[in-house]
Amino acid sequence: MDFETELLRAIMKALPDPVFVITESGYYLEIAGGRDPAYYHDGSYLKGLSLHDVLPEEKADWFLEQIRKTLKQDGLRTVKYSLAGNDVKGLETAPGPDGDIRFEGRIQPLPLTLWGERAVVWAARNITPQHELETKLQQLSETDDLTGIFNRRKFLQQLGRCFRRFKRYDRPAALVIFDIDYFKRINDGFGHSVGDDVLCRLTANCAAQLRQVDSLYRIGGEEFAVLLPETDAGDASRQAERLRQVSAQLRVEPGGEAGRVTISVGVSEFIGMDASIEDLMKRADAALYDAKRNGRNCVMITSENPIR
Ligand code: GH3
Ligand code: MG
Ligand code: MG
Repeated sequence: MDFETELLRAIMKALPDPVFVITESGYYLEIAGGRDPAYYHDGSYLKGLSLHDVLPEEKADWFLEQIRKTLKQDGLRTVKYSLAGNDVKGLETAPGPDGDIRFEGRIQPLPLTLWGERAVVWAARNITPQHELETKLQQLSETDDLTGIFNRRKFLQQLGRCFRRFKRYDRPAALVIFDIDYFKRINDGFGHSVGDDVLCRLTANCAAQLRQVDSLYRIGGEEFAVLLPETDAGDASRQAERLRQVSAQLRVEPGGEAGRVTISVGVSEFIGMDASIEDLMKRADAALYDAKRNGRNCVMITSENPIR
């Protein structure tokens, strides 16, 4: 072996991240690099096998689709995916990281035809730590610190999504908003941390009342919203009434008799005339305002009589 070939082989072997040459029909032609078991399992035995030999069908199909898209586009593509050592037949017992590994794949068409087939170079990089951090940040950006439920940012995002779905498919949906009555008095009379505790217990009690598909958001200091997909005004107000009742069972101090916590609730169904989520929120707000004016501790549907 001449020096240049030897050098090239050594470099290929020492590439920090694994590089695969895979044909259009899904055969591994060459595998180089990625030898550190702290980051990767050793996949060098894959040479000569096909994606469908070693991967679950769905994953193998996905890889093939990416290869075809890259060849069609005839340029570099970047994809992200998760794969565990256990997903790859023959790799289960090889040393390497446990569980799902998040990869960034950079796929480039190979400027050669090999045995009559086109092929790509697929460079995979373990980006699990960055991915975990991204997921954590994403979660933090949509979670309310105190209660652990979704925050206002997530609410507006989900409401927008729900509203677009309503406009497109004309399926019923409803928005419930509620606000704790005289919350300032709780803070003033018992202290801010007792107020915080009330917010947390109220959140937990309300969340326990909801269906899996409904979501609860803290959209202001002591103001909350519930998005109810596939729900008309009648069902939404029954649900709102249940929320009102469980809230009224709360006492400012657990076990105490005095200091009842109550909420006022506004219910609004999505309607065809709503041009935007602002229209919808305005109506729910108006209903909540009606409930406050009506003596609090009650549920109001936009321009309807109170249910108590
Ligand atoms: P209403 O029945 O009209 O809603 O009266 P209210 O006293 O509940 O209304 P107001 O808006 O005057 O008071 C809301 C209070 O909620 C004021 C604010 O200090 C308190 N608050 C907002 N966020 C928090 C929080 O995170 N923790 C606590 N303990 N209090 C909060
Ligand atoms: Mg209030
Ligand atoms: Mg308020």
